[in-house]
Amino acid sequence: MQVPFLSLKDITAKYADELHEAVLRVTDSGWYLQGNENKRFEEDYAKYIGTKYCVGVANGLQALELMIRACKILNGWNDGDEIIVQANTYIATILSISQNNLKPVLLDPNPDTLELDVEAIEKAITPKTRGLMLVHLYGRCLYNEKIGEICKNHNLKLFEDNAQAHGCSYSGRKTGSLGTVAAHSFYPGKNLGAFGDAGAITTNDEKIANLVRVLGNYGSSKKYVFDYIGENSRLSEMDAAVLDVKLKHLDDDNNRRKQIAKMYYKGIKNPLIRWPEIKADESNVFHIFPVFTERRDELQQYLKEKEIGTIIHYPIPPHKQTAYKEWNNLSFPVTEKIHAEELSLPMGPTLTDEQVRYVIDILNSWGEKA
Ligand SMILES: *Cc1c(COP(=O)(O)O)cnc(C)c1O
Repeated sequence: MQVPFLSLKDITAKYADELHEAVLRVTDSGWYLQGNENKRFEEDYAKYIGTKYCVGVANGLQALELMIRACKILNGWNDGDEIIVQANTYIATILSISQNNLKPVLLDPNPDTLELDVEAIEKAITPKTRGLMLVHLYGRCLYNEKIGEICKNHNLKLFEDNAQAHGCSYSGRKTGSLGTVAAHSFYPGKNLGAFGDAGAITTNDEKIANLVRVLGNYGSSKKYVFDYIGENSRLSEMDAAVLDVKLKHLDDDNNRRKQIAKMYYKGIKNPLIRWPEIKADESNVFHIFPVFTERRDELQQYLKEKEIGTIIHYPIPPHKQTAYKEWNNLSFPVTEKIHAEELSLPMGPTLTDEQVRYVIDILNSWGEKA
């Protein structure tokens, strides 16, 4: 049996009629940027996340970069001011801070929960700290009340990188509405994915929303009048239409991911394979189902031979990348262990029970003879 890591083709096929209708509607409209499709999706997505505002942009990296830039401008932050962020994240989170000439202050997560410890955050705060970036990695919420309190007490902006957690919630509130402002990526492989690059920010702060829109539109608040050195980062009408269709099915898709995760949790009984603790109150949307093993590369090869697709999220941590040479000698042991041992199993709304059972059987048979 073949089990792909994720089949975008199957996901699109599932909603083909509605998607074809949406694509044709935009094709025939003759209007491809900044129109009704954007307006509709922004309204629907803001409502879904539970914020007053949503602004569509061109991709997740620019959503991150523009939301930070808006806060930097509105609050008069200086170059070199600091944003605290977990060391175990996708490079885009870190890039968005550096691109604003701010300093990413990296933190190792807790080895058992893979969440940020409150004490570690407090220790990292300096007079230059302006914000905390939470990355809801793998689809699980990293926010808690204590983190909210620290931000309030130290006057820090709370940023959320919600690229992997569309639909995830905390005590009934969606991630993407828990802090000052949040960035979302709609890269095709995310839980809510477009037909190309796409992204958005969500916030209750009107000033931030307006400024992100201006900065992403050449810094222009009025046609041919430029108030900032802006950039071009807009969501296409085609992608807005596609996203609006897929948003209607997001909860169903996420529920299927949760069912699959349950099967994995119950079925995998191999002592060589571990996963992070899950809390009872957690509403994880399983963008990724990560497992951890010291023999990760061997396991990946074994699964490949059995035609099971996996991906490593991610093989090299940001502080070990050539792009960040100045950090290469720093040590974040938990992050380094995560990157050395993580393997993402097949996960997506179109996987069948039969495929999941096959993956579980193969995982349980691994290492028997070793
Ligand atoms: C995908 C992703 C991004 C970047 O989004 P793009 O749309 O690919 O630019 C940022 N942060 C995290 C955690 C991601 O998974």
